[in-house]
Amino acid sequence: MNSNIFDLDQRLLTLIDEVEQEVRSVWLDREVITRANQWKVLKAMQDHQISDFHLKGSTGYGYGDTGRDALEEVYAQVFGTESALVRGQIVSGTHALAIAMFGNLQPGDEMVSAVGDPYDTLRKLIGLPQPGPGSLRALGVKYRQVELTADGRPDLPAIENAVTPKTRLVLLQRSRGYAWRPALSLEDLAAMIETIKSVNPAAVCLVDNCYGEFVNQLEPTQVGADLVAGSLIKNIGGGLAPTGGYVAGKAEPVENSARRLTAPGIGSAVGASLEFNRPFYQGLFLAPQVVSEAMKGAVFMARFFERLNFPVTPRFDEPRGDIIQAVALGSAEALIAFCQGLQKASPVDAHVAPVPWAMPGYQDEVIMAAGTFIQGASIELSADGPLRQPYIGYVQGGLTKDHVILGAAMAAQTMLDRGMIKI
Ligand SMILES: *Cc1c(COP(=O)(O)O)cnc(C)c1O
Repeated sequence: MNSNIFDLDQRLLTLIDEVEQEVRSVWLDREVITRANQWKVLKAMQDHQISDFHLKGSTGYGYGDTGRDALEEVYAQVFGTESALVRGQIVSGTHALAIAMFGNLQPGDEMVSAVGDPYDTLRKLIGLPQPGPGSLRALGVKYRQVELTADGRPDLPAIENAVTPKTRLVLLQRSRGYAWRPALSLEDLAAMIETIKSVNPAAVCLVDNCYGEFVNQLEPTQVGADLVAGSLIKNIGGGLAPTGGYVAGKAEPVENSARRLTAPGIGSAVGASLEFNRPFYQGLFLAPQVVSEAMKGAVFMARFFERLNFPVTPRFDEPRGDIIQAVALGSAEALIAFCQGLQKASPVDAHVAPVPWAMPGYQDEVIMAAGTFIQGASIELSADGPLRQPYIGYVQGGLTKDHVILGAAMAAQTMLDRGMIKI
């Protein structure tokens, strides 16, 4: 039952009810994963006897910051790793991945991407297509990449060929990013890592875990990855972390990353947590539930737009390895209407209309809808897409599923108003 305070077309209200019935069993399956992750986080906090004083922060150098240190141990337990680095001084997911790569690669080392093109923001960091100033390739790191197969699957024989005894680090990306391909499952990751280790057991397998935390019951480090990195304004910050990033994994590559974040000699021993400990702990506590809401929202969005005759990936009942839902909208006008409609469902900035713009680093104009409490937080409901064929809207996040349902409905309403869909 829906009260119609947003003036939605009656046919859309009916469709919401129908889709809700259709997706209910998928939502129920999701709750099994949610509970496992919620209990995992609680166990880690209890095992480390988190108390009120841990929630307070430090200033200056941050020496003896027990709240920060215990948080890192809690993260390590959640990821099943020896060590973790969780810092507000890590400015984004790109930065977390950058310290992991720069910290663990030396001039002359080889690096391999096992998933084809890395995420857009990592290309400049690696030095693609040109080894620009400060990039890994400019420092003398040798890079090559193994493409995914035509249907977006890992190419194990090609990975086996590309890895050599000189390969120091292999990058694997769990999320689909901005590609029309499936996210990697944990089984895919395990098979890739096994292949890499069969050629070179010492190669550091680094998983770009952005958008992946708590999507499944295990994390990549629990199926063989040496190192994971991600952003706190995505899944694992639970919508409360105001900034920050993390790296988790084996002790040595994590400390190598810390040396790169601060400086050799001080590594992870310094770094004031300021006011971040409380939202980092509370965000971690909420993250399994928040990710669950975002996933339920994505499942709803998939079926809702499929019912409106748009191709979607993944489909509502397909397995998921990240929080992203892609909807192929078919025209620039439809993508713009979709994003502008979704923005109208926001808690913040609902009254402004996003327009396409030439974002630095992108070939085509990009439109982004985001009415978020934390700037750029993509665990909050947001949508974006480059203005090129087939005009895919990438939707992610949502702190509550009912917000995502309204987002889907407002996007469809705007498209309906502009004559872009028929019901
Ligand atoms: C978001 C994201 C990044 C980069 O994170 P930022 O916080 O935007 O710098 C890297 N890889 C993937 C797969 C992402 O989703």
